[in-house]
Amino acid sequence: MQHRKRLPVALLVAALTAVSLGAPGLVLAQATIVIDVLDGPDEGFNDPGAPDPTSAAGGNTGATLGAQRFIAFGHAADIWAGLLDSSQAIVVGATFDPQPCDATTADLGAAGTNTVHRDFTGAPVVNTWYPAALANALAGADLAPGLADIDAFFNSAIDDATCAFPKVWYYGLDGSPPAGTIDFVSVVLHELGHGLGFQTFVDLGTGAKLNNFDDVFMLWLENHSTGELYPEMTDGARVSASVDSGNLHWIGPDVVALSDGLTLGRHPSGHVEMYAPDPQNPGSSISHFSTSLSPDELMEPSFTAAIHDVGLAAALMQDLGWSASSLPRTTIGQTAGAPLSDGGGGGNCFIAAMTGSLDIAR
Ligand SMILES: [Zn+2]
Ligand SMILES: [Zn+2]
Repeated sequence: MQHRKRLPVALLVAALTAVSLGAPGLVLAQATIVIDVLDGPDEGFNDPGAPDPTSAAGGNTGATLGAQRFIAFGHAADIWAGLLDSSQAIVVGATFDPQPCDATTADLGAAGTNTVHRDFTGAPVVNTWYPAALANALAGADLAPGLADIDAFFNSAIDDATCAFPKVWYYGLDGSPPAGTIDFVSVVLHELGHGLGFQTFVDLGTGAKLNNFDDVFMLWLENHSTGELYPEMTDGARVSASVDSGNLHWIGPDVVALSDGLTLGRHPSGHVEMYAPDPQNPGSSISHFSTSLSPDELMEPSFTAAIHDVGLAAALMQDLGWSASSLPRTTIGQTAGAPLSDGGGGGNCFIAAMTGSLDIAR
């Protein structure tokens, strides 16, 4: 039995204030994120336990622990929804269940797109996988009706006395987690980033493309030491690039245009380092910014501090094809050697189940 609760996260306040900026040509960013709670009664997001007073002091007024979790999730969803445009509701299937944790490490959460799509009407690049939320936005239609666009999982054991991990979740909304806590809003923000498109579908172990098609994330991945881009590499070369620390780069124009705020992790060309540890870190390699970046970015693979600003991830979403009209952007022209489709054709939409990456706290 699964209890389903759907709550649209609207952005009326953000929309109203954006109008008054008066910037020429400014169009409001507006997406709606629907949180589809898949927990059972009395657990996870429905946990009837007492609210955490520390989180309450941080602005989370939920009357129960489950309510606090849900409110914090909604706060993070609001941040993304205020940055991206889509006519289609972005549905996130969310659960909060016990997952692995021990005295030194704990899985925090995982998320990814639920389905992938290619060659739909409106697809900017042919023969290329798009995550569901982005594909829906580009198509102006729900390409997988009845299915969540993003699946997200979070570890409830972190709040549990049976888990030896010394930190607990902080559900405050103020980005000020006390010592000994992990900022849940930051983790949700990060995981939603994966679900919205910050992930490759390449098989990390073999370097193989998903069903032999490019994904939109890989179009901007470069091995700077060879100059090759991910789509044109052999499977073996992709595996090599995935462990080429410092040389696996994001070269999308929107990220490059804004990367000069980085003092570390940025090539003089503006290319930004991606996470490519040797040996690979399954579930984390490639689909994150490098841990070498400074200042720290939200989409690095592990958390050291609360971050409620999606930072360069917003520009990366634009490189993927998201419309994010409230942000500065460059014009996306030709992508990495792939011809731009005229959007004609349609049909031929392929859907495959995906799982997301798993993120770990230390
Ligand atoms: Zn480069
Ligand atoms: Zn991650």
